[in-house]
Amino acid sequence: QLTLDEVTKTFQDDDGEIVAVDQVSVDIEDGEFLCVVGPSGCGKSTTLRMIAGLEDITRGEIRLDGQIINDQPPARRNVAMVFQSYALYPHMTVRENMAFGLEESTDMPDDEINERVEKACKDMDIFELIDRKPGELSGGQQQRVALGRAIVRDPEVFLMDEPLANLDAKLKAEMRTELQELQQDLDVTTVYVTHDQTEAMTMSDRIAILNDGVLQQCATPLECYHEPNNLFVAGFIGEPS
Ligand code: ATP
Ligand code: MG
Repeated sequence: QLTLDEVTKTFQDDDGEIVAVDQVSVDIEDGEFLCVVGPSGCGKSTTLRMIAGLEDITRGEIRLDGQIINDQPPARRNVAMVFQSYALYPHMTVRENMAFGLEESTDMPDDEINERVEKACKDMDIFELIDRKPGELSGGQQQRVALGRAIVRDPEVFLMDEPLANLDAKLKAEMRTELQELQQDLDVTTVYVTHDQTEAMTMSDRIAILNDGVLQQCATPLECYHEPNNLFVAGFIGEPS
């Protein structure tokens, strides 16, 4: 179980304090697929980055299976993040991109790393691309590499920040199905940020709706749709995207 307990993030800027995430509390069950939605600037990416350890939290606590993780470095947290921009190293091959994190942050022997990388490439259907560099791949292929790089770490939690946002509609639909199958096969807890209402409604077990850093509702898609907590949720979920 991944628990956010009154997690708060403030930033300082010239005009004073910005509360990007305001006392967000949520329990995410093992194997659950949670979508995080809300308007631009509502704190979605900041929330993911705090879980990943890319951003310190200002107040509150993040726990994984009861253990506090918010004071641990990213590599120790047993979570893997996938970005919209893929964030692959351009000078490294697919194989090297996928192996890099494990080489840097674990003492796993080379042959095991190799085995995991090759298996992940087969799972993601990119094995024939393993010696290419990201610049020689399509957007969809690069996103598969980014996903593969998360899989090789065998994390307890996947964190995804609009992973399909850069893909065209057809590829998006295809990857959506694949991602869902992958998530179910691996039975990995997933926190998935999206702008796409269809994605949120069809992929998630529950949707968390943020506005201005405040969690408005966290419930199944049907509950959010039929029993919105407030007008904001009703407007946001009802809106076609
Ligand atoms: P989008 O849908 O546009 O990606 P988001 O929901 O992911 O938006 P965040 O990136 O989490 O939004 O930002 C939340 C708020 O925190 C915004 O007001 C943003 O300007 C502010 N913010 C984020 N990072 C910083 C930073 N490093 N310094 C100052 N303010 C920041
Ligand atoms: Mg964002």
